Amino acid sequence: MYYKSTRDSSIKVTSAEAVIKGLSEEGGLFIPESLPEITAEEIDLMGEMSYPERAFLILRKFFTDFTDDELKSAVESAYGENFSVPNATVLSKLYPDCYVLELFHGPTCAFKDMALQLLPYLMTVSAKKVEAVKDRHIAILTATSGDTGKAALEGFKNVSGTSIAVFYPDEGVSEMQKRQMITQEGENVYVCSVKGNFDDCQNAVKEIFTDPELAARLAEKNMLFSSANSINWGRLAPQIVYYISMYASLLFEGEIKKGEKINICVPTGNFGNILAAYYAKEMGLPVNKLICASNTNNILTDFIKTGVYDRNREFHVTVSPSMDILISSNLERLIYQYHLSEQECSSLKGWFTALKDKGRYEVNDRVKEKLTADFYAGWCGEEKTKAVIKGIFDDYSYLMDPHTAVAYGVYAEYREETGDKIKTVIAATASPYKFCAAVYDALGKTPDADEFKTAEDLEKLTNTEMPEPLAKTRGLPVRFTDCTEKDGLKRVVSEMLKV
Ligand SMILES: *Cc1c(COP(=O)(O)O)cnc(C)c1O
Repeated sequence: MYYKSTRDSSIKVTSAEAVIKGLSEEGGLFIPESLPEITAEEIDLMGEMSYPERAFLILRKFFTDFTDDELKSAVESAYGENFSVPNATVLSKLYPDCYVLELFHGPTCAFKDMALQLLPYLMTVSAKKVEAVKDRHIAILTATSGDTGKAALEGFKNVSGTSIAVFYPDEGVSEMQKRQMITQEGENVYVCSVKGNFDDCQNAVKEIFTDPELAARLAEKNMLFSSANSINWGRLAPQIVYYISMYASLLFEGEIKKGEKINICVPTGNFGNILAAYYAKEMGLPVNKLICASNTNNILTDFIKTGVYDRNREFHVTVSPSMDILISSNLERLIYQYHLSEQECSSLKGWFTALKDKGRYEVNDRVKEKLTADFYAGWCGEEKTKAVIKGIFDDYSYLMDPHTAVAYGVYAEYREETGDKIKTVIAATASPYKFCAAVYDALGKTPDADEFKTAEDLEKLTNTEMPEPLAKTRGLPVRFTDCTEKDGLKRVVSEMLKV
């Protein structure tokens, strides 16, 4: 299987090249030439399999230039003891028709681990396959809205032949998210805050990737850049696995019948997680609606409902900071998927140039129709998010983090608006203990200035436990205190890599 770029159909690369490059030279994203199928028989078979076996079955359809041994060893290393539960994820039933797929049992307590525990293995195997980069040092640059950064650091720490730098918005992450990053251990890691928001971080990192002068200096030192953001295909593919795996589990446990359609509801920011669900659907997973849930930064709700993407609006800092994003990179992949003719490909390029220049574009009617056929979109404001956390805890003794609560809020609205009672799975993307203060406050209590005191109070109040990876950051020394202006990233990266 080959991958092409969303902005230049003449570019064709292998999966190894797509993973190594992250972003195509002309700024496009890599997507598979065609999507492989998942059959009902395969889903049936998966019922008996472990998570690594399921991952192997699906990923070998995408990473066709990897040997079975390479891929098997990668998934076994990634989804083993690093996760605190036997099969990496937990599927629990909130009430009949409504399930929660917990994706936060990895080493950093957010769903990003599901892909970022695997990505370093994919990348080191890929590096050996691509002649042009053989033996070159890979410098990973990552912009984070809070969770990607830590998950990427944890995935790449002390991986030989790589180094990693993470940039986070100085006032856009939770205390715990920040603490997790600035106490990161490892010899090849670097963390720096940026004066600005996530979009500023992401844009600055994208510019560095496409800076020819810097690329030349790097090449001289036998290095190259790559990305751990969800613009990298190696981040997206592993996310397809857990949606298909979840369906196989529902079937295996007799919760659904063979071929029964379900809805999937995803709290969305950069559109990576929900895009993976869309890919699963396109591969043949029986899915009815994909429910795209936003917080107050509701640009995607407007886009899906009207076809107009307009980022000329206020940026809000919310209790679900990992979704505080106005430029959802992965939309480009979805829109490309909707475009089949050459002519339409060129209009796509125009839209994304318009987004860069004017901050706004409008898709054509055909894309609008497809968007509303596949997706339902809604958003959940701050007060309602808190009310959901409290309501779900009171009614079901289930503690949700604010991102998952946003998803639930939108699902509840969907159910009421459409009367649809089709079984729905909500992606639970983070542990509530990453956002202790917001969660404790939502339960009607006053958080302490000390995050760990609040965590203890939350434990007592809800009879739940802070995950060990978060608890242990308490005793760790702070290693990173650098902060830069958004136009200072290039200098910081040059200094870090000594180029
Ligand atoms: C990253 C993140 C999201 C948003 O996921 P996207 O793939 O960027 O849409 C939602 N919730 C949490 C907790 C996250 O870390």
